[in-house]
Amino acid sequence: MAKLNHGLFKQACRYMVGGVSSPVRSFRYIGGEPLLIKSGKGSKVFDHDGRRYIDYVLSWGSLILGHAYPQVLRDIKKTMGQGLSFGTTNAREIELAARIQNAIPFIEKVRFVNSGTEAVMGAVRLARGVTKRDKILKFENAYHGHADYLLTKAGSGLSTFGLPTSAGVPKDFTRHTLVVPLGDLAAIDKIFKKYAGQIAAVLAEPVGGNFGLIAPDIDFLKRLRAITKRSGSLLIFDEVITGFRFHFGSFAGISGVTPDIITLGKIIGGGLPIGAYGASKKIMDHLAPNGKVYQASTFAGNPVVMRAGLGTLEILEKKQAYYRRIDVLAGILTTGLLKIAQQRGVDINIVRFGSMFSLRFTNKGRFRSFYRRMLAQGVFFAPSEFEVNFLSFVHTHKDIEQTLKAASKALGGSI
Ligand SMILES: *Cc1c(COP(=O)(O)O)cnc(C)c1O
Repeated sequence: MAKLNHGLFKQACRYMVGGVSSPVRSFRYIGGEPLLIKSGKGSKVFDHDGRRYIDYVLSWGSLILGHAYPQVLRDIKKTMGQGLSFGTTNAREIELAARIQNAIPFIEKVRFVNSGTEAVMGAVRLARGVTKRDKILKFENAYHGHADYLLTKAGSGLSTFGLPTSAGVPKDFTRHTLVVPLGDLAAIDKIFKKYAGQIAAVLAEPVGGNFGLIAPDIDFLKRLRAITKRSGSLLIFDEVITGFRFHFGSFAGISGVTPDIITLGKIIGGGLPIGAYGASKKIMDHLAPNGKVYQASTFAGNPVVMRAGLGTLEILEKKQAYYRRIDVLAGILTTGLLKIAQQRGVDINIVRFGSMFSLRFTNKGRFRSFYRRMLAQGVFFAPSEFEVNFLSFVHTHKDIEQTLKAASKALGGSI
């Protein structure tokens, strides 16, 4: 009966590849037609047929305050009334930079860009410029945006070069990207020996959020810090998801491991497109106009985006106690899901860290049928076992109860 959604998706497919602007939105992993959302309010989204869903996707983790948070909307409307873009430094931009600096003290300077992808590209170029080295080391299955040289998988056998995972990326472009399994200290040691003096930076997600959830390993991060320091390489934490997700600050601040450069995105834009990277003054001064590392942008620091981010951070700072609340709620949800699955004899692997969690079934078909049944009951989870789910400050106990009730039905019968 989902008539309007169905019609719209058909139209979308006529004009857009797969009907989407980003692949995972197509629900290919699940099969069938994707959800097309018309509006959102709080923890809920609504499709074009008026169906309501409890949203655990939250614009891929961006909306930590949920949808259409009144104060943020009021603020950006006011800013919009003053014009949309000037391409000069604006007061909101300075305020957002200052607030980020305050929350993440080792960042002395911030550069804004328009996406997480750009933030990582900027951070990597900066690291290469500072160290005058070409190679970077990343981990298997880690996603850092869609820059050519980061779309890599581990090379075969003894070759440690990354191989492109996307058509359209020349092998030459991933020549300087070294890839090792996450947590493999022996492989890392070996690579640092083999490429002594050549590795500009290690790029890591301190909490893995793009291959299902991978809980942080603080000891491993400490080892990375020690190895990079010893080798004259920089450590980059990609905190595009984790920045402001677990407390008012970076995950680095929780872990006690301080990277040299940090990338941010998602939450700091309050739902509008953003990215940022930051480091000490000494490192950041290598960026133009002060230094020789070039990176520019027409829209970076856009006043409306800055206002949305600033409004969001203001509220997060004021309501810091809610971080604890959403951790607890996420715990109730994942414990409940696990219990239901166990009662039904369904093999499910649930990983949670703070307000992030991912679900994986031993059998892909089971995930698909579970997912479809949850969606039919008004629960919108990430449409792949490799994407993570999130809670927002406005999710309620009632949302969790309804989700568990739906899961109880979805996992019953012949799943
Ligand atoms: C989302 C994400 C990116 C890319 O950000 P975009 O805004 O989609 O370009 C990079 N790194 C991590 C860890 C991410 O989760």
